[in-house]
Amino acid sequence: MSDPVFQIRNIDAAEKWQQILADLVTDPKELLKILDLDPAHLPLDPQVLESFPLKVPRPFLARMEKGNWQDPLLRQVLPLDQELPASDTLATRDPLGEEDSNPVPGLLHKYHGRVLLTVAPHCAVHCRYCFRRHFDYQRNTPGRQAWQSVIDYIARDPQITEVIYSGGDPLAAGDRQLAWLTASLESIPHLRRLRIHTRTPIMIPQRVTSELLAWLTGTRLRPVLVLHSNHARELDEQVADAIDRLSANGLTLLNQSVLLKGVNDNPQALIELSERLFELGVLPYYLHLLDPVQGVRHFEVSEARGLQLVEQLRHRLPGYLVPRLAREVAGAAAKLTLA
Ligand SMILES: *Cc1c(COP(=O)(O)O)cnc(C)c1O
Ligand code: SF4
Repeated sequence: MSDPVFQIRNIDAAEKWQQILADLVTDPKELLKILDLDPAHLPLDPQVLESFPLKVPRPFLARMEKGNWQDPLLRQVLPLDQELPASDTLATRDPLGEEDSNPVPGLLHKYHGRVLLTVAPHCAVHCRYCFRRHFDYQRNTPGRQAWQSVIDYIARDPQITEVIYSGGDPLAAGDRQLAWLTASLESIPHLRRLRIHTRTPIMIPQRVTSELLAWLTGTRLRPVLVLHSNHARELDEQVADAIDRLSANGLTLLNQSVLLKGVNDNPQALIELSERLFELGVLPYYLHLLDPVQGVRHFEVSEARGLQLVEQLRHRLPGYLVPRLAREVAGAAAKLTLA
């Protein structure tokens, strides 16, 4: 079993995603220069980046079209003065009431049977529309010791059958930590499923390493990966290869998107996204209406428009390629599905 070429390739891949993660574009001037865009057209109050810094992984940047301010990938990461609180007084910092469903640090228990763990405090990217941009990660990133309280909480409640790794982005954490946590959870007899909510394989496809596949497929828990992609152009050949490696290992693959003005709020974009996902072996799951968190108003699409778009998808696609339009309501027993 010692194929030296194979081993060398593994090591390369493992180093590579960490290097890419350590070398994100964080300066708007650099971002715009790479895209041949003039920074003079982007007046930016320093407060915008102070409250939510710029973070763009280079493999994602490479898929953007040069010279195009309206590029749907760029729009998702481009900081704008419109994010400032002054222009957005109605939105709250915690629209989902998550601070009430947080019994132990690192764990959210809102819905019956499943708990969400904030496994990593950071992401490979900063999506400007992110509803967790104000989340208290400081309190919610347990060290190893504190993970024990999370594990104990789950072990005490036999109704919990599914654990969801979230964040931040769980795959921004290293495989050693993730393998350790998974092994600890696996010994809880009533747990059946392990779900991973992640955008990292889209941002940095090199993240799908054999180390990742080893712990994901080596657990008795049935793994489900829910990717987060909003536009077909995010899914280039490198991403397709990464997704191939996941599906070749028998993982159930789903995708959730956020409905975003100027990114995917038209039938064509949504149809292409569903078609492309299916080509790669991924089924659309949720299409989320934006949560009204502070600073994201410029991405908002109305519920009426969301319903209209999903209706148009229904006329053009098989039912299994139409995502469920969803919105979270604080205190509700489930995500509210509107269509
Ligand atoms: C979205 C979410 C879930 C998962 O909900 P599903 O409808 O099962 O996808 C679980 N817990 C929390 C806190 C969530 O926000
Ligand atoms: S990957 Fe998800 S959690 Fe991270 S910034 Fe983007 S939307 Fe937010």
